[in-house]
Amino acid sequence: MPRAGVDYPRTFQELLSWFPDEQACLAYLERVRWRDGFICPRCGTVGGVWWAVRRGLRKCTVCHHETSVTAGTIFHGSRLPLTSRFAAIWYVVNQKNGVSALGLQHVLEFGSYQTAWAWLHKLSRAMVLPGRELLQDAVEVDETYVGGVRPGTGGRGAAGKAIVVIAAEDRGEAAGRVRMRRVPDVSKPTLTDFVLDNVARGSEVHTDGWQGYDDIGKYRFSHVVTNLSASGDPAHVVMPHVHLVASLLKRWLLGTHQGAVTHDQLDYYLDEFTFRFNRRRSRHRGLLFYRLIEGALAADPAPYTTLLAQRRAA
Ligand SMILES: [Zn+2]
Repeated sequence: MPRAGVDYPRTFQELLSWFPDEQACLAYLERVRWRDGFICPRCGTVGGVWWAVRRGLRKCTVCHHETSVTAGTIFHGSRLPLTSRFAAIWYVVNQKNGVSALGLQHVLEFGSYQTAWAWLHKLSRAMVLPGRELLQDAVEVDETYVGGVRPGTGGRGAAGKAIVVIAAEDRGEAAGRVRMRRVPDVSKPTLTDFVLDNVARGSEVHTDGWQGYDDIGKYRFSHVVTNLSASGDPAHVVMPHVHLVASLLKRWLLGTHQGAVTHDQLDYYLDEFTFRFNRRRSRHRGLLFYRLIEGALAADPAPYTTLLAQRRAA
């Protein structure tokens, strides 16, 4: 477990004194990424011996591949100083109510709104790592409709709104961790993919009787269906956790962003909300800083345009 004041800064003052320049940031990234020893990205040798070729560059003694700590991460290939990006991460984890690119641009004097937004988008990849930390045990899954100022009719197919599918672990009294995604429709392939990507096999998946969930049972999940009209209970009684999460999400979007988000922005905000929600019991903001750096070092880099294209295709 990373320690406050040792593995991560506790205050903004500490952040500034820990990371005065690029070298200090790089050294910190090396410390977090290769905590258990250097791992060669080419030959996969763990805890291997390396030579320092140049500043920040390591050469594997086994395969002679040269690599830097930022290679293959979202820290790679940006002219934005690491000190600015560290400050941005600190800013993100310390804002109680979420972050806007505009706020980031103003506070950190990022060159442009686009620069700030591009970095937030990259960061979101570090917030929810695909394939990692899958939800498990009892998990509730349902869709909700987000955005748009028009009052929706509720139910499936409210026009003009984004569809967000949410999974929440049922931990009895409270919800455990959550995952969520904006989806184009509530078809069988879409909803099945979401469950496969976010819930560990063997889990018990609770849904309502919508046919889009009919295939879940084919994939080593135990699928528990509650037919709402037959049960006579409203949805928030049958699946309380996922409905609580949906209402928290909507309140957060309204409070922080006045509900005015485009669908692309929404993708980022869903990741940010998920990151905050899943770590809501972390006592130290600095620990979130550490976790986000850790995630950023594990996330693949992608140019802004590729990222948007992938998101749109998703
Ligand atoms: Zn190697």
